[in-house]
Amino acid sequence: MKTSLLRLVALAVLAFAPTVSHAHEKITAGPNRGRLITAVEPRAEFFVTPERKVQITFVGQDGRPVAPAAQVVTVTTGKRSDPTRLTFAQVGNVLLSDAPLPAGNKLPTVVQIRSAPDARPVTARFNVDTSVCGDCRNAEYACACGH
Ligand SMILES: [Zn+2]
Repeated sequence: MKTSLLRLVALAVLAFAPTVSHAHEKITAGPNRGRLITAVEPRAEFFVTPERKVQITFVGQDGRPVAPAAQVVTVTTGKRSDPTRLTFAQVGNVLLSDAPLPAGNKLPTVVQIRSAPDARPVTARFNVDTSVCGDCRNAEYACACGH
């Protein structure tokens, strides 16, 4: 009786653990110090280039870049009343947006990644704040400090 109760407690802790850790979601930076989107496999690094284009680099389990396969990425960003939709083309080993981000900072952004054109999209939402964090030196959208 006691054992099964303990097991139940353990199961409850396990069940709640992901929720707890999600509340303090820690961002992992990718190979270019962009933001790693970890809900997809392989993981995808969201990085803003100096030209303000969005570069998506897929990252394998070993943390090294892997070439895009059949993934389809779309990014919707900017003012909700006048959003900018970016599409991507493969350039070398990465996907690069067809156009730069709109002007401004702290742009509300939705990234959708399909592992294949007919697959269900995985969605990541965050603000693209390109100011540099004074602690980790990453852009704030990829800040790994957890503040
Ligand atoms: Zn930081």
